Amino acid sequence: ATVRGNNFIAKIIEDDLASGKISRVVTRFPPEPNGYLHVGHAKSICLNFGVAEQFGGVCNLRFDDTNPEKENQEFIDAIQSDVQWLGFKWDGDVRYASSYFDELYQWALHLIREGKAYVCDLSPEQAREFRGTLTEAGKDSPFRNRSVEENLALFEKMRAGEFDEGACVLRAKIDMASSNMNLRDPILYRIRKAHHHQTGDKWCIYPTYDYTHGQSDALEGVTHSVCTLEFEDHKPLYEWFLSNLPVPAQPKQYEFGRLNLDYTVTSKRKLKSLVDNKVVTGWDDPRMPTISGMRRRGFTPRSLRNFCDMIGVTRSDGMVDVAMLEHAVRDDLNHNAPRGMCVINPLKVVIENLPEGHLESLSAAYHHELDLGSRDIPFTREVFIDQDDFKEEYSKKFKKKFAPGKRIRLRHSYVIEATGYEKDEAGSVVLVRAKLIENTLGVDPEDGDKPKGVVHWVSADKAVAAELRLYQRLFNHATPDKTDGDFMGYLNPESLSVVQGLVEPALAAVAPETHFQFEREGYFVSDRFDHTADKPVFNLTIGLREDKEL
Ligand code: ATP
Ligand code: MG
Ligand code: MG
Repeated sequence: ATVRGNNFIAKIIEDDLASGKISRVVTRFPPEPNGYLHVGHAKSICLNFGVAEQFGGVCNLRFDDTNPEKENQEFIDAIQSDVQWLGFKWDGDVRYASSYFDELYQWALHLIREGKAYVCDLSPEQAREFRGTLTEAGKDSPFRNRSVEENLALFEKMRAGEFDEGACVLRAKIDMASSNMNLRDPILYRIRKAHHHQTGDKWCIYPTYDYTHGQSDALEGVTHSVCTLEFEDHKPLYEWFLSNLPVPAQPKQYEFGRLNLDYTVTSKRKLKSLVDNKVVTGWDDPRMPTISGMRRRGFTPRSLRNFCDMIGVTRSDGMVDVAMLEHAVRDDLNHNAPRGMCVINPLKVVIENLPEGHLESLSAAYHHELDLGSRDIPFTREVFIDQDDFKEEYSKKFKKKFAPGKRIRLRHSYVIEATGYEKDEAGSVVLVRAKLIENTLGVDPEDGDKPKGVVHWVSADKAVAAELRLYQRLFNHATPDKTDGDFMGYLNPESLSVVQGLVEPALAAVAPETHFQFEREGYFVSDRFDHTADKPVFNLTIGLREDKEL
């Protein structure tokens, strides 16, 4: 395999395989099940699963579940479904850091016996004070020199539930003067009298993320433990544990730049507050940058994977223009989505030279290049076109539009000519009279008077009313995250508008999550949950062109 695009991690793996340093690459994607995955996680998923796929290795899905109070089964299920939806397959069963709690506990005893861990009774406030600052060394805890026996006894009492939460913690004995704050006797275990979604009430002490992560990697034989740059300072600690414990393997940590997208927040905590404050309808609201939100919006797995390839993997935390993501989505749908017709602002056209009750079935391909099958479109005496496609007066500016005495082609159907129109009291055109030009199905009129343009339309009798959910960006500020004020202050009040449209009958009948280009309107998807043949619901995925942006 060769390295695709700009991806320094893939390069490292390629070299490690070539030099024989490893014989097979093993990576992992390690989410904490405390929320839904977002677009940033998609980058990490594409990277971890992508390199495993690319180099014939495997990637594990491991839940880093060391904070039971914040985690739950709903998040576990959603995360698995998101990874699968993106098209990736993890190796074997899903894994849980919590299934290593026994090993981690034994290793904690090992550190205590080696004089490398101690039970500390400092309160959190005191511990913070003793920790020092970036410019000032920390001070040793008064409990640092407890004997091995005392520490073993106290840790056993912690485990047995004999202390209250916060009464004490187990800490590694490393170096309170280290310039790296993470090495100033970090916490290994804290008391949490919480029920755990996997281990139930077996434990009342839980290991910290730092103490859990590297050892879990080692137990799973992970070769390349890839994480975001904020963990760079944790790497010496990651390595300290691996070299001070009898672990079965020596994984290596590599850091890459996290994805930040403008006009978006990518922090589970902030996304959760959007959900909790009912700013959106849920984690999978189509405006959310969550994987399930983007899915519901109509983004495709391929578009997200292409986007991740486009942005590459580097060692800097840049801000990515959300237009790049939108481009990837539009490009994929442009190439792959079937075409269909939906009229949003209907104007009735009566084709007067057709008999009352005329009903003809026209077969139309779903795509002009790909073989996506075809559907039948009912053609009747009365049809709807878009109000904007009719002009009372012909002009150069509107030369592709319908106007009195002018001809237009109804997409996939005949050429018609406008013969007259009616207005309401307010002066709006409410009806157009027209005549059908014979023998124009798929060919130009015999008299040589060609139609000026092609418009989308639906049968007035047979079209089905559909709810259209038109989405725009959730935030109207490029960096809602990084401004002084509260990110909630930058919500776009127009991020959702609901309108009615009329769709061809065949489109109403499609399954949920069917993507379309509604010709001349935009890319839409039938809603994953609310769409039915009787009450069709389509979400606007993205506009047709960049200048008509979200
Ligand atoms: P958040 O900061 O949004 O709460 P997290 O980092 O706490 O996310 P985890 O569940 O711990 O979320 O993340 C799982 C993996 O996804 C980690 O390896 C993490 O580095 C990676 N990840 C999270 N956010 C991003 C991002 N914005 N870009 C790239 N990778 C990310
Ligand atoms: Mg995390
Ligand atoms: Mg986080």
